[in-house]
Amino acid sequence: MRIAINGIGIAGPTLAYWLRRSGHEVLLIEKSERLRTGGYIVDFWGLGYDIAEKMGLMPRLRELGYQVEEVRLVDQRGRKSGGFDVDVFRRLSKGRFTSLRRSDIAATIYGALDGSVETVFGDSVTRIEDDGHRVIVGFDAAADREFDLVVGADGMHSRVRQLAFEAEANFEFSLGYHVAAFEIEGYKPRDELVYMGHGVPGRQVSRFSMRNDKTLFLFIFRDEYLPSIGLPTASERKAALVNAFADVGWECPQILLAMQQVDDIYFDRVSQIRMDRWTKGRTALVGDAAACVSLMAGEGTGLAMAEAYVLAGELNDSKGDHVAAFARYQERLIPLLKEKQRAAVKFASAFAPRTRLGVAFRNIASRCLQLPVLAEFVVGRELRDDFVLPDYGF
Ligand SMILES: Cc1cc2nc3c(=O)[nH]c(=O)nc-3n(C[C@H](O)[C@H](O)[C@H](O)COP(=O)(O)OP(=O)(O)OC[C@H]3O[C@@H](n4cnc5c(N)ncnc54)[C@H](O)[C@@H]3O)c2cc1C
Repeated sequence: MRIAINGIGIAGPTLAYWLRRSGHEVLLIEKSERLRTGGYIVDFWGLGYDIAEKMGLMPRLRELGYQVEEVRLVDQRGRKSGGFDVDVFRRLSKGRFTSLRRSDIAATIYGALDGSVETVFGDSVTRIEDDGHRVIVGFDAAADREFDLVVGADGMHSRVRQLAFEAEANFEFSLGYHVAAFEIEGYKPRDELVYMGHGVPGRQVSRFSMRNDKTLFLFIFRDEYLPSIGLPTASERKAALVNAFADVGWECPQILLAMQQVDDIYFDRVSQIRMDRWTKGRTALVGDAAACVSLMAGEGTGLAMAEAYVLAGELNDSKGDHVAAFARYQERLIPLLKEKQRAAVKFASAFAPRTRLGVAFRNIASRCLQLPVLAEFVVGRELRDDFVLPDYGF
């Protein structure tokens, strides 16, 4: 089949890889002019790790990754107030756990296509006309083209979802937070392989020292610390962060000052996408476009890869019957994704407590992860993916 995939993040190139393996003709479309670089760090494990291994990518991903040793929570003066040894995660995942830039994972997966897939950068799907037998796809720049299927792998704010289903607002469920992230070169102090975090009621700021003298900063804060409704534009982001974090203490004044030199700030709502079906006619959604679990799940990357792998596998098994393949794809994965979303909502409620007492309690609770029995109970459950990847014999 001829299949157009909108979005070259995690899900898009994973899907392209497995579709190519079963002989389909794929077009990948990405709205950015090139693969996005930088950005935030993600923890990578579980289903994503298994699929990356099947694709032969783990040696490269481990090379790019960081084996984080400790999550350290500190008070206003930088004194340790909580945290845990990340070894807990490695032990419970049997060493199949690493942390790396989302953009490095995306680039590694895309690299695995080895130029075998037609790719268009700086463009986007803008029209989908499905007459039941084929789909005519319109683009921002390129001329219309005909496909058998169209897939939206274009993230939480999916254009394909909007075109083929309904407006984002009908599927977005806010977790009550906003998130911002950026990188700075030359920031001091550095704490190698330690994820440093400082929280006050409703707000949390973290930093992680990376290679090449870079430091990643992550800000997560409750919606009430954003003065206006709606996302700040690119030029309003710095002011929004200064407004929310100026009185937070620790290294915040220094971080906010250093932020002034940064051009690229990631800023978004912390939301989930909840849909009862991920396909309509000849269009399907994968990854965050279909079922964003949010950063509170810590597993969106792996789940996006699992969705891509299963969609390609079901299309392979159904020998061209996309109706049957789409049905199996959703049957297999929607229950798992709903469960992951429920768990993320629970975690979100405790992430940045609203009161000082709540912050203190959270910090103490985080120390309890040092205890093996408790760690197994809390983390072990979250790390398990009650899902076995089908073997599609690709
Ligand atoms: C701060 C933060 C921390 C996170 N931490 C973790 C973690 O620890 N572990 C984890 O597993 N996950 C984590 N996640 C979630 C993870 O990043 C996502 O679930 C994952 O990237 C989803 O992959 P995707 O391919 O569906 O979407 P994306 O990675 O968002 O890729 C979508 C792609 O589509 C492109 N695109 C968008 N619109 C269009 C358009 N109109 N036309 C063409 N292309 C378009 C985008 O440019 C992008 O390249 C985190 C997320 C955030 C925000």
